[in-house]
Amino acid sequence: MKVDYRSLLEEVYEEVRQDANEGKVADYIPELACVGPNHFGMALMTASGEEFGVGDYEHKISIQSISKVFTLAMAYELFGNDIWKRMDVEPSGNSFNSLVQLETEKGIPRNPFINAGALVVTDMLVSHFGDPITFLLDFISNTLDNRPININLDVANSEIKHSDRNKALAYFMKSFGNINNDIERLIEVYSHQCAIELSCAELAASFLALANQGYSIHSQKRILSKSATKRVNALMQTCGCYDEAGEFAFEIGLPGKSGVGGGIVAILPNQFSVAVWSPRLNPKGNSARGMKALEILTTKLGHSLY
Ligand code: GLN
Repeated sequence: MKVDYRSLLEEVYEEVRQDANEGKVADYIPELACVGPNHFGMALMTASGEEFGVGDYEHKISIQSISKVFTLAMAYELFGNDIWKRMDVEPSGNSFNSLVQLETEKGIPRNPFINAGALVVTDMLVSHFGDPITFLLDFISNTLDNRPININLDVANSEIKHSDRNKALAYFMKSFGNINNDIERLIEVYSHQCAIELSCAELAASFLALANQGYSIHSQKRILSKSATKRVNALMQTCGCYDEAGEFAFEIGLPGKSGVGGGIVAILPNQFSVAVWSPRLNPKGNSARGMKALEILTTKLGHSLY
């Protein structure tokens, strides 16, 4: 049966607008707090390349931790299963920037999507490329028919200035031998990757390969190996929303990844990718209205992964 995605998104938009817009815009990176808190955008792209959008779906957003999906995919393609020597694949049950498990687990982060794990992934890319940002931008651009990708330097610099927590994570892991590069340099690269800007429409398009068995919809070429597609999706499902990954699976039932810019991307294998943006975050650091919108989407659709 053919789904009328246009009407579906409009219904979601309508329902979400009636809801109280609760939560707080992230301000521990001061520049992120400059965004209007009441934006809402949602874009969906089907596996056959049809695009749909509502609200501010073409507004550029700070992708923040959604960037961790791109860096993980790059690292996995480059180094294969060796990357799991430096981090695990288990949900942490702790907040995204928590330090607590690193001590007992000897500097090995629980997974690549908490900050500690993402810093290890970025460290691998710095060791390999020297300057991985150009390669990361090319990687993302390749998923978007070679469109140029922008970094918001104000956001990057704002994060660098307020990076004590991430530096603490990095130094701590370095003391266990699990970070190889200079910490200042690592934080600079990590903060730039988080400050990449994409719209919901672009996020949905750039994640479509994960819903399309690794193939680009534009070129029909393979962007991700079969194995990377499977593993990145599995990690998005189990760890993509940190200590709310269980709730996300329970309410929404799709692999997804959030960022503190208020974006969330999710995919339904062989069907679609969807990106939503609403800057107010719930206490776990995930977009409150974004979660709600995705829950309404899969409920109305009548199916998810489960
Ligand atoms: N740049 C942010 C940080 O390191 C990303 C966190 C997130 O989006 N959850 O704190």
